[in-house]
Amino acid sequence: MKVFKFGGASVQDAEAIQNVAQILKKYGEGELLIVISAMGKTTNALENILEKYWNGEEYISGIHALKNSHTNIINHLFDSGSKEQFEVNADIENDFIAIEHYFEKDLERNYNYIYDQIISFGELIATKIISWYLNHVGYRNKWVDARNFIITDQRYREARVDWKTTSLLVKRQIPESIKIAPILTQGFIGATTENHTTTLGREGSDYTASIFANILDAEKVVIWKDVPGVMNADPKKFPDAIKFNTISYREAIEMTYYGATVIHPKTIQPLQQKNIPLQVKSFLAPELEGTIITADDTKIEVPITIVKSNQSLLSIASKELSFITEKSLEEIFKCIADLNIKVNLMQNSAISFSIVIDSDADKITDFSNALGGNYKIRHNNDLELITIRHYQTEKLDAFLQGRNRHVFLEQKSRTTIQLLMER
Ligand code: ASP
Ligand code: MG
Repeated sequence: MKVFKFGGASVQDAEAIQNVAQILKKYGEGELLIVISAMGKTTNALENILEKYWNGEEYISGIHALKNSHTNIINHLFDSGSKEQFEVNADIENDFIAIEHYFEKDLERNYNYIYDQIISFGELIATKIISWYLNHVGYRNKWVDARNFIITDQRYREARVDWKTTSLLVKRQIPESIKIAPILTQGFIGATTENHTTTLGREGSDYTASIFANILDAEKVVIWKDVPGVMNADPKKFPDAIKFNTISYREAIEMTYYGATVIHPKTIQPLQQKNIPLQVKSFLAPELEGTIITADDTKIEVPITIVKSNQSLLSIASKELSFITEKSLEEIFKCIADLNIKVNLMQNSAISFSIVIDSDADKITDFSNALGGNYKIRHNNDLELITIRHYQTEKLDAFLQGRNRHVFLEQKSRTTIQLLMER
């Protein structure tokens, strides 16, 4: 069997969904599990609605606007006045009512919990509409609720998968069912054993595809994107970016670790474990091969540039010019771990220790409060962390001159150079 994953951009409007149907009719034969995320910018829109609700602002109009945009898509996809159009609209209407009711009844006042209960509607609604539509155009498929399979812990918004239970549930039902018709399900969402909805972290639908693939021993996963494949830089920032025909799991993991957004960082490992190839290809040019990611370590001949924006540099200096010792590092790292801070780069000197993190005002305040007693903490915001893998020294100077910006920090290994720069 195979797993296909379609992200938000591939289903952002009626034409895009029609295109997905074409792709499935042509390439989606045989045993297939299809993972789809929320349409277009729905997840951001739901986050905005939640934010307004949370802050006591007017949020209902946001729900209505989002409902209208989905209704418009439905009305484009189905014949007007048809029974089907009516049924799909009724189905979706219920979900939007459920969102409104949820807010009215909410007693939890636990932001991350509510987040998952609300944001998950984006994928539920999208997959319902698309499943109806695919059946309508003759691509028979079965809609399943991913929350009945992807079981997680209770870390809302960053839930960790309970592989044992998930595996059991998936193996018990999916292999039989998939023989009858392709299965269509949601990315990104799961549930606790108590049936509370959870999410796997933003952009987590790729990861869902890879979880199913691992458990079902898929022969391949295809992620359909709006780019031709895995490129050596973001083509929106670097117009001369080139596409790789093949790269290794290892390179892909490194790239996503440093901030490449082409695939979710957690996607590779479960595939690598079972040696399942991952193909990244364009839904706009489905006949092209895209990039195939496998265990083969092909030599990378061109530098790979990854830009991570919105970075903060935290400099932690001892008071009274005393050395940063192992004891101080222990204290600093404990604080980093306690606050769940992800460090993108670190460097130490005699009397100071620096870390680079994704900007987050609350975390910086908490960090400063926690360590401020013993250390002097300074921070710079709005920086860019540029990572170049397989850098070529000759080209690097030209690259830096072209940018001509202040470099706050630099770190170099044999294969990778990282530069923290002003934006
Ligand atoms: N819809 C979710 C998000 O936008 C998950 C995904 O797209 O993978 O983050
Ligand atoms: Mg998305």
